[in-house]
Amino acid sequence: MSAIRCAGCGIQDGLLPSEPLHADTAWRCRKCNYTEPAANVRKFVEKVAAALEGVDQNDANALEKAVERWSAHLGPSHYLLAGLHHSLAMLYGRAPGLLPHVLSNKQLSRKASLCRSLLELVDVVQPGRNSLRGKRLFFNH
Ligand SMILES: [Zn+2]
Repeated sequence: MSAIRCAGCGIQDGLLPSEPLHADTAWRCRKCNYTEPAANVRKFVEKVAAALEGVDQNDANALEKAVERWSAHLGPSHYLLAGLHHSLAMLYGRAPGLLPHVLSNKQLSRKASLCRSLLELVDVVQPGRNSLRGKRLFFNH
């Protein structure tokens, strides 16, 4: 949930901490062994988080643009992207102007896709029957 794109080979979820239990360990690509100092990764993630703080969580278009922009730099299950996906899944079908009867097929498919990816993430983070999974299933309808 914290992997980022490798600047060496470009694999999207390539960079991970080389020693996950040490906060200041270098981040190493699992494919090409490119390394990035922890401080650089931390600065980058802080930059993305700061940029996302300025995104209106009630504006689906702004959220979609943020997903598009940052998906190229963060791993597909990065927690910052998961937060955007969660916000979008909550908006589609529930927010004014995005209620189920006005959603396009493309928007409905997007909601279903977002909910599926969040459920897959929940299955990894907290497998089994639990409230987190139940809430994700509830918002999937
Ligand atoms: Zn790499």
